[in-house]
Amino acid sequence: MSKKHAAQAQTKKAKKQHRFAGILLLIFVIIVALLSAAWAGLTVAGFDVYREVKNILFPVINAKAIKWEHNSIMLGNGQKYEAKLNLTPSNATSEYTLTSTNEKVIEIVEDNLIKAKSVGSCTVKATTENGLSAYCDFTVSEAPDKLDVPSEVDMAVSESYQIVPVEGKEYGDGSFTYTSSNELVATVNSKGLVTPVDMGETTITVKSYNNIKTQLKLNVGQTPIKFTLNNGKIGIGIDSPVQLQCEFEDGYGANSRQYSSSDEKIVTVDEKGYVTGRHEGKATITCTLFNNISAECEVTVDDKLSKVRSHLDPSKPMVALTFDDGPDGKNTQSVLNTLKKYDARATFFVVGSRLEKEKKMLKAEYEQGNEIGSHSWDHKYAGDLSTKQQREEITKTNEAVHDILGIYPTLFRCPGGISCDVYEKEGNIPIIQWSIDTRDWETMNTSSTYKSIKKVFDKNENLNGDIVLMHDIQDSTPPAVEKICKLLDKKGYQMVTVSELAYYNGVDLENGKIYSSFY
Ligand SMILES: [Zn+2]
Repeated sequence: MSKKHAAQAQTKKAKKQHRFAGILLLIFVIIVALLSAAWAGLTVAGFDVYREVKNILFPVINAKAIKWEHNSIMLGNGQKYEAKLNLTPSNATSEYTLTSTNEKVIEIVEDNLIKAKSVGSCTVKATTENGLSAYCDFTVSEAPDKLDVPSEVDMAVSESYQIVPVEGKEYGDGSFTYTSSNELVATVNSKGLVTPVDMGETTITVKSYNNIKTQLKLNVGQTPIKFTLNNGKIGIGIDSPVQLQCEFEDGYGANSRQYSSSDEKIVTVDEKGYVTGRHEGKATITCTLFNNISAECEVTVDDKLSKVRSHLDPSKPMVALTFDDGPDGKNTQSVLNTLKKYDARATFFVVGSRLEKEKKMLKAEYEQGNEIGSHSWDHKYAGDLSTKQQREEITKTNEAVHDILGIYPTLFRCPGGISCDVYEKEGNIPIIQWSIDTRDWETMNTSSTYKSIKKVFDKNENLNGDIVLMHDIQDSTPPAVEKICKLLDKKGYQMVTVSELAYYNGVDLENGKIYSSFY
């Protein structure tokens, strides 16, 4: 090889080496460009650089099937829901996208997050990269605006209790959160199932996805070995439901109960223990607890005890006579005799502390078909009582009436007509005032008590829809009642209970609301 040739070969070799370095540099630049494009998540000429690079580094395991965990889902309006889908095989890494058939009802907020936007229904489709799809039906209901749980629940340490915050509606998984204030007494799971741990008290707080809260006081007692049902005996009217009560010894209690009637033609009973008289006669109601312990109550159906008489004539005037502060061993019987004579019924607002002594009179009032209202325990004015004391005024009287009659008072009249927060705001019972005050308690005079009614007619006014206030503890009142009934009867009035007056005026009495007349 000549020197010249050798030099040429040398140059060629150098050129080759140079070109090779150039190619390497180019490849390097391309790789760097690709990596930085990938890093920036760029899509170059129609393909996703990031995904391609990822696919090279971590190859996709294609799904062979995709399935929603649930085929249909209920949500409350505004509720969010994380989609749950299962891929087969379980190590499949195919990605999927969600699409809604109606974005106004269900919106896909991000990757897997779904939000209910309005009431309605639609379908959400999940599609994998390799073209598989699965569908789920969504139904969106109104958002809960009120949670309805009992304020207090008694249960046995050996039973469980299911909280149902909104009766008859569902809001999908996880729409409520439950917490127990004392987990040593009872725990509650994410579905609202309460499991007792030990005897005692705890408060369960229930919260909805839209932040509505309510609380339930839970008393966990010993497992009962016996109990009674309304002292074993009750008298009811036709078509006016009364709730039976299970009576446990202190420290015992149970929640789950099953009721049955020995004769459904006479008495029917629902799952909450409400008995309804269908025909006059007798039937036995049996209540069975979760542990198979049972108790019976003999129910006598007597039309006389119907809360609202069905034969009243709504085209004729009606007035409600009411008697406070009794029962009174001396005067109440005389009032009852007059009422009976005129086929009249009245409402007696009784004072709880008198009942032990006046059991017979209370029974006589009720068994003649009159209505029993509560007038507190000892006639203390609400303004002089604490919240707790006011509550006791109601519950103590309710229990005293129930012990004697097997029914609870369904109306309340505040002592002195002075209402107070607890009576109204806690809304346990309708509050009844009056529109005509005979002032019999003040004048203690038969003639002026009678005149307070007569003067209404003298002025050419009427008493249709009025509630009249009297007191059956005044000696001067029974003779006035005789004269008043005679006058009203002559004027064509039907003398009715407050519930009858409300019913025939189309008013559904609401707890916590005050009524003084029905015009
Ligand atoms: Zn009074």
